Amino acid sequence: MAAILGGGLGGLSTGYYLLKNNLNSNNNLKLYLLEATNYCGGWIKSIRTKDYVFEQGPRTIRPKGVTGLNTLNMIQDLGLSEHISPIKPDHPAARNRMIYVNNNLYLLPSSLKGVFQKNEPFSKPLIYALYHDLKKPHKQLKDDSIYNFVERRFGKEIADYAISPMICGICAGDAKEISVKFLMKTLFEWEQTHGGVVKGLMKSLFSSKTGNELVLSDLARKAQEEKWSVYTIKGGLEMFPNKLQAHLKDNNVTMNLSTKVEAIEFVDSGSVSLNIQTGEKLSVNHVYSSIPAYCLASLVQKQHPELAKTLKDIPFVTVGIVNLYFATQKPLIKPAFGFLVPPIENSPILGVVFDSCCMPDQNGTVLTVMLGGRWFEEKFGKNTTSENLYNIAVKEVGSILDIKDKPTAFNVNILNRCIPQYVVGHYERVDEIRQYIKSNNLPISLIGSSYDGAN
Ligand SMILES: Cc1cc2nc3c(=O)[nH]c(=O)nc-3n(C[C@H](O)[C@H](O)[C@H](O)COP(=O)(O)OP(=O)(O)OC[C@H]3O[C@@H](n4cnc5c(N)ncnc54)[C@H](O)[C@@H]3O)c2cc1C
Repeated sequence: MAAILGGGLGGLSTGYYLLKNNLNSNNNLKLYLLEATNYCGGWIKSIRTKDYVFEQGPRTIRPKGVTGLNTLNMIQDLGLSEHISPIKPDHPAARNRMIYVNNNLYLLPSSLKGVFQKNEPFSKPLIYALYHDLKKPHKQLKDDSIYNFVERRFGKEIADYAISPMICGICAGDAKEISVKFLMKTLFEWEQTHGGVVKGLMKSLFSSKTGNELVLSDLARKAQEEKWSVYTIKGGLEMFPNKLQAHLKDNNVTMNLSTKVEAIEFVDSGSVSLNIQTGEKLSVNHVYSSIPAYCLASLVQKQHPELAKTLKDIPFVTVGIVNLYFATQKPLIKPAFGFLVPPIENSPILGVVFDSCCMPDQNGTVLTVMLGGRWFEEKFGKNTTSENLYNIAVKEVGSILDIKDKPTAFNVNILNRCIPQYVVGHYERVDEIRQYIKSNNLPISLIGSSYDGAN
């Protein structure tokens, strides 16, 4: 018997792969999934009406790499292929990504040609950044912040105007704190082993590539062939966890919703007892924890305080999400993915996604404003209200995009401690956590975004 803690995408996918493994190995592992709330999907929540879809958390999925291809395989297996809406390289949402600097929106270059031209707010064509990387000596380091790394290799403008807003978009975080070794492992290794990114890239082009063993579904193959940038799900991303939940249920996984686990007691290397909020206990042989690291910390605190301390050292940030719908015939925005705001602009917003451009079937203009992240408390204090965030979002959208209309509909959500921050040393911290589990023979596996990345 095994229990999965958490019914977000991490927990649900774990159930999917454990079932697959059961089938492949003729195993008959009995599975339980325990989710604290009455909903499966974690941060994925969609509001769907006949005119618009509001995504209150994630909205796009990357098809690239082994993880991306595996996800597409899973999506096809779940029967969701026909609901996939890809953003291909020629789509405006793939080509037009902007940054907001000095009261202006600037398009980031999206083609090779653009790299040779001077694009404001950059003072020189981006090709100069590659020259900077070639001539700059490298520093032998164990890890570094993404900001330091990019400033060292490509110069301050790239760090401020390209990478810092990108980090806001990926994890609502500060590039001056996030680990380059974790988020840009290959580039960091190129610097460390070959003396620079361009040198590493050249060497990698001539080295033999190891083949990808993954068997691709038709959908994954199509995504590769058509070079999808990202994709969304028509009708809302929520359909994905809904389908996974139904799949687990159909395959006899016991789905316990509104079941908060309050403590974990490890008995021996093959036995563990879970204390549920209701006072009940569940004994299993193994636990797969997909709950945030700080939640797991409180469950193991009593028996393993040292482990709890390291788990708590993984920081999380809060994000405000304001979805806006304008029922206008003519779009109020130019076709683009949206824009991000570099932290040096000191704006209350992190960026705006142009949902009506990225997602199909929207009858009007739909925007999502993201606020706070690493700077949430600094900008809005400890007790901000939804009304305050809504007013800020509407004011910023009004002045940056010159939108005078009042939204026809809106939704505000404050997602408390929702995104883990992979700060400098994250690799080593996760390693330390897994080493502790191994050396103490604890029957627990760690999954989910706290440890190995968001997707
Ligand atoms: C605003 C926002 C936008 C994002 N955008 C994107 C995007 O566009 N693309 C992308 O790929 N990723 C995106 N992400 C990241 C992505 O959403 C996460 O990586 C993913 O949803 C994490 O899933 P998870 O299962 O690891 O965790 P979670 O979704 O946090 O799920 C954990 C679950 O555990 C439950 N739980 C907690 N404690 C207990 C307990 N004691 N007992 C039982 N259950 C418990 C919770 O209720 C929750 O349901 C975004 C994240 C946020 C917050």
